[in-house]
Parts: sequence; C-alpha cells; structure tokens
Amino acid sequence: MSTQPFILHVNGNPNVPTILEVKVRPTPGTTQTELFKVPVGTKNCRVLEVQPDPQGTTLNGKVFQWFRIVLPDNREGWVRDDLVQITGDGRSYGYPLLPMSAYAFSITRTSNVNPVGTVTPGTPPSASTTTTAPATTPTTTPAATTAPAATTTPAAAPAATTAPTTAPAATTTPAAAPTTPSMGPVVPSPTAPTGTVLAVCIANRGANLRAAPVGGAIIAKVDYMTQLTVIGSSAQGGGTNYMWVNVRNAAGQTGFVRNSFLKIVGNATQWGLGAGDEYPAPMRAYWWVRGFGINFPANDANEVYHDGWDLGAVTGEPMLAGPRGGVVTQTNVCQKCTPDKPNTLAWGIPVGSDSVFNDPAWGYGYGNFVVIRYDNNLLPASTQQRLAQRSLSGAHVFVIYAHLANFTARNGQQLAGYEQFGTCGNTGNSEATHVHLEVRAGSNPNAQWAQLRPGLLEPGNLFSR
Ligand SMILES: [Zn+2]
Repeated sequence: MSTQPFILHVNGNPNVPTILEVKVRPTPGTTQTELFKVPVGTKNCRVLEVQPDPQGTTLNGKVFQWFRIVLPDNREGWVRDDLVQITGDGRSYGYPLLPMSAYAFSITRTSNVNPVGTVTPGTPPSASTTTTAPATTPTTTPAATTAPAATTTPAAAPAATTAPTTAPAATTTPAAAPTTPSMGPVVPSPTAPTGTVLAVCIANRGANLRAAPVGGAIIAKVDYMTQLTVIGSSAQGGGTNYMWVNVRNAAGQTGFVRNSFLKIVGNATQWGLGAGDEYPAPMRAYWWVRGFGINFPANDANEVYHDGWDLGAVTGEPMLAGPRGGVVTQTNVCQKCTPDKPNTLAWGIPVGSDSVFNDPAWGYGYGNFVVIRYDNNLLPASTQQRLAQRSLSGAHVFVIYAHLANFTARNGQQLAGYEQFGTCGNTGNSEATHVHLEVRAGSNPNAQWAQLRPGLLEPGNLFSR
C-alpha cells in the first residue's frame, strides 16, 4: 500500500536543455493559447488528471499525454508529458508506482484512467477549485509488461554505450535551477512487501528480460521505471563485474536483466547484490548511462576503462550530499569550460583524450567538480564492512562529483544531509549532461583526490543506483 501522492516536476525536455520555460494551457493540446508560462525547475505540482493528446499527436509513434496540474502557488492548467517528470503513486492514472521521479514521456501509460471525481477533458480549469485528490488506494497493479513501449529502440546494450541521447547543447547552464527545497530525497520505495526485493529499471530506453544471462533469448521488454521482483542472480564472470539479476515481471515471466540497468530496493545481499543501506544516488531524477570497469560493449572498438558510474540527468538537476552530510575537501572550476563550449566535444577533442586527462585547465577531464569526504562513522554498515574486507578498516570515503554545471560548495564546508551543493552539467570530458561519480577510500582525512587513487572503489560500495 502506498499513500505517496502523484507529483509532477516541470523539468523541461532532457533532449532540449535550451528550453527554460514551459507553457501551461487551459485545456489539453497545443492548439490552445497559453494561460501562463512556468520556469523549468518548478517542482511539486499536484496531478489532477491525465489525458492523451486530443489531436493524437505523436513522437516516435507514441502519443503525447497531457497533465492537469496544480502549481505550488495554486494556479492550474495543462502541460505535456515531454516536458515533465513524475513521481509517486500514478496507478489511479494508468502509470506505475514511481519510487523516484522519471521523465514522463519515457513511460508508457497502460490505460486512460483517472481517479474518480476528475473532470472530463475540455473543461477549462477554474483558478483554484477544490479537486479530488488521487485515490490513495490503488486500483490497478503496476502493469509492467502490457503495452510494449511504442517507440523505442531495442534497449539493453545501447543505453550503456551511447551516452544520454542528446546533442551537447548543455551550453545554457540554467544552473541555479530554482531551489525550491521541497521533496524528500529519493529513497528506496517503502512499498516492497516485507521480505520482497524489488528491481526498478533505470535504463531510460528500457532493458531486455532474457532467458539466460548475457546472450539469452529476449523474453520481454522492461520499460524505464518498471518494477520487477528479484528472485536470484548470476555473476557474468569473464573479468567483468556484471551481475545478472533473476527477476519476475508483473506478467509472471521470469528471466535475467543486467544489474547496471536496475535499481535494487531492499536487502539483496543473499544474491550478491546491494545490502539496502547504501546512500541513494545524488540526484532525485536520473537514468543509467555507464558503469565501472570496461563497460563499453565488446563490439565497441573504443573500449575504455571507466573508474566510476555515469548517471544521466537534465542539466541543472540538483546534486545532493549524502544522507548524513559530509565535508567538502576539494573543488575545481574548469578553466577551459566556457559557457558556449563547456566540454571537449564542443572543442572537437575526442572524448577520452590523454591530453585532457593531464590538463589541469580541463580539471583533468572532470570539468567543474566537487570532492566530498564521508567520514567512516557516517558510512552505511555495509560500506564499513566492505572497507574492512579490503584492509581499509576505518577508512574514510571520498566521492568526486564531476562535470557539474556549477556548484556552491566551498573547500572545508560541512554539508548537511542531502544538502544541495551543485547542479548536474556537461563540463570537461563529456558529451552529454551527466554526473561522473567516482569513489575512493583512504585513512588520511586531508588527502587530495590524486593521492587517493590506490583506494579506488566500485561506486556500488557506497551508493545504490
Ligand atoms: Zn564517467
């Protein structure tokens, strides 16, 4: 059961970061004049109703959906699903239960339902009427498999290889995105029945459910944000650190999905997966891009060793400190990252060039970055145990948050739990907006980032995806 409201954030289009304002209309459809505009970054709008586009307008074969929302200032109107993120219990509206916020257009609505009491489309909203709150008791189960996501590309590998879809547009740096405090951080869904471990698909193009690990036949498609039940796992081996998670979908089909495409919710240590006490990812809304190790597919000629995780997000997505706070030990403003050419791609320099990695003016490739130290006593119990197993008992953990659009963190600053210290960007050795999350351990609390290299850790030792 769940009492999470269905909430919408006006976050703009992740593929078009230059959009900084979104039109709110009196009824669904772009033929309507606008009521007013809201800035990208407006958060915590309550969803009243969802309707498909009245003209049946599509993108990549998928019909747009329109949301009737109430803004925090009580204004009301309709916005289209390619410009917003949604989170919470959407089951009364044909969406799944979304434990973390997700790009609405990437989710396939399973039916055109609305909570009892909502007004039919076409009725102009009156300023701040009282409306029926979404029914708290869900009427439908989160239909995982139904409607095959109309558009999308095959999934699985692609998501990892290509880096977040878009062009390098990141220039605009809407940066200091309106900082409505709001919203608790993303935390593991409280909805997993006791003893059940869930896996949520965080590959924004979906993933494949396979009959066997690695090259097994594809049984079904798993859409972004679909929830699966974990029933086991299998290590890929062969020098990789991949795990294949044995899961069951809502249709009762069982198979395997690679762990990098999944956020595990609950204690899955019995299967060699997360303990469930790890820090949440540092952003509320993100998608999976790339993991630790040699993570480009075997058929990619440019195999590169990758020292961290890459999580894609919308430019300006707030970057949050760990749940118990930490100390800023290092910051860098990238000298070569200009507003119109923030990254190597914009300069025509191939991604992954040694000249960049050796250049302090590029922040050694990290662009704008912040390093935060999490003292040993603030770490999850599972992280402390893993450090001890590696003869790093009592060590502190340092995290670099790289490629930021901007940051407010200052050297020596003590950050509170979940305190925002910057925003996600596309600076340095980067080709699309994402954070590179790299984790190193060391016992000297004053160590500089470069000195900590021997303590490099797979980020899953501290974070859950
Ligand atoms: Zn990276």
